Amino acid sequence: MKIGIVGCAGRMGQMLLKTILATDGAEIGGGSEHGRSEYLDKDLSVLIGASEPLGLKITADARALFEACDVVIDFTVPMATVNHAGLAAETGTALVIGTTGMDKEQIAVVDAAAQKTVIMRAGNMSVGINLLMGLVEQISGILDNSFDIEIVEMHHHHKVDAPSGTALMLGEAAASGRGVDLDSVSDRGRDGITGARTAGDIGFASLRGGDVVGEHTVIFAGEGERIEITHKAASRALFANGAVRAAQWCVDQPPGHYDMKDVLGLK
Ligand code: NAD
Repeated sequence: MKIGIVGCAGRMGQMLLKTILATDGAEIGGGSEHGRSEYLDKDLSVLIGASEPLGLKITADARALFEACDVVIDFTVPMATVNHAGLAAETGTALVIGTTGMDKEQIAVVDAAAQKTVIMRAGNMSVGINLLMGLVEQISGILDNSFDIEIVEMHHHHKVDAPSGTALMLGEAAASGRGVDLDSVSDRGRDGITGARTAGDIGFASLRGGDVVGEHTVIFAGEGERIEITHKAASRALFANGAVRAAQWCVDQPPGHYDMKDVLGLK
């Protein structure tokens, strides 16, 4: 199975190339970058420190990459991902999306592509976070509004979007457990004289610093007791492993929109 990587020179792109090389039954189908990338026309091997060339040049021609591959993995930026979803629909190539920070309109465009091909999108590809989401939904359904839910996340200083896609997914899980819409209870970016906390709100706090790969804690704070559940990602490898697993799963599915719970059989 040929897997293409758009945004192959990125932190996740490089990890994905290494993961595919180490995965039985998977083959690198090529890699693309944006038109101003310093890596264009270089062999993909320069990105992973391989001694032998892979015989595949980094291209800005994303359409050609989609046409050459069975499935493409995308960890880039929202605007590029919207474009890639269009190419997936036009070429019929399955697309695995890890990009976070997309707004509702961008998500709608991406979801529309799922009418023509397989679109698998997840703000976090790790098994542990997807299990955590199930636990958060369950606990939120049991505890009433006397328990305040706060979601704290920390990531490396390069990250451009906040709260993280994973924090928002955990917020959705908590809101779903309480039977409410996250948009109506979400409390983000507190600063200054905010007034007292509203019961039932789901709060978010984002920390940025150093090389932290990704840490998420969901806090259920009640009177006299507090439950905290934390997930810590030690390496990007777990996201890359999840994405490659998803890519292998995607090629056997009919067109449609899927997430990591489908891939892991958690639905
Ligand atoms: P990064 O900045 O290191 O990599 C992004 C890459 O995309 C860069 O190489 C950039 O040049 C490239 N790119 C930008 N526009 C492009 C275009 N039009 N065509 C092709 N390539 C293009 O970022 P990163 O740390 O690898 O993260 C990428 C995204 O993945 C972010 O949104 C991040 O939040 C998300 N992420 C998701 C998960 C998950 O499990 N879902 C895990 C880690 C990161």
